[in-house]
Amino acid sequence: MRYIGCHLSAAGGNVSMVKTAQSIGANTFAFFTRNPRGSKAKAEDPADCAAAMEALRENGFGALVAHGSYTMNLCTADPEARAFAAEILRDDLRRMAALPGNFYNFHPGSHVGQGTDTGIAQIADALKRALAPEYPVTVLLETMAGKGSEVGGRFEELRDILDAVGSDHLGVCLDTCHVWDGGYDIVHDLEGVLSEFDRVIGLERLRALHLNDSRNPMGSRKDRHACIGSGYLGEDTFRNILRHPALAGLPMILETPNELPGYRREIELLRGMEV
Ligand code: FE
Ligand code: FE
Ligand code: ZN
Repeated sequence: MRYIGCHLSAAGGNVSMVKTAQSIGANTFAFFTRNPRGSKAKAEDPADCAAAMEALRENGFGALVAHGSYTMNLCTADPEARAFAAEILRDDLRRMAALPGNFYNFHPGSHVGQGTDTGIAQIADALKRALAPEYPVTVLLETMAGKGSEVGGRFEELRDILDAVGSDHLGVCLDTCHVWDGGYDIVHDLEGVLSEFDRVIGLERLRALHLNDSRNPMGSRKDRHACIGSGYLGEDTFRNILRHPALAGLPMILETPNELPGYRREIELLRGMEV
């Protein structure tokens, strides 16, 4: 039994997301901690969080994968904007403490011409200041497509951030569209890509997956998601992922261009690929 789910709207609260997830056959899900294209966050609701935690446990859900806002850029060039982004990260992690044991995933950032090394240093700096040992949440850096000046398009860049922060509360979320667009051939050599991940980062740091097909060929650095089976990755790639023993137990989150009925169909498709 794999943990498969998709992005859900957080508008109705956490308990409502658990119910929606169940209605489409999901046993994990992702949600944005605040407006994905802005910085506004919802009012906190401890009772809703506690009730959701109970419902997740009762229904055998895997860990959730909350997603930070796309606009949070920890390595933007303007110091004030960078400090604001770091503050958003800190606030997100503080809020995640109401959902203990789950993941918080975010895009490392875009260095906007400052250079990859500077970007890595700035991201690591923000993480060091935001990660409090008492926060019961593991923060996941997402593998990126390497579009524009994105940091995290190479496994080495993620490893450098992990090394610089040096915290057990840090891991990686592998996005299938992103790694393909970044030049990792998971279509013909999933095994080789996972070996490379293990060699550079360590497979024990891989804690979640984003399952997306890609509208573009390998190495395109475009980051345009496609529905499962309708892009360059194809159904066989996802079958290999679903059946890979090293990936069993990881939450697998769809970020495909779908509404709920489409997500329900894709979850069913993926469930049919499980061994
Ligand atoms: Fe993402
Ligand atoms: Fe993603
Ligand atoms: Zn993407």
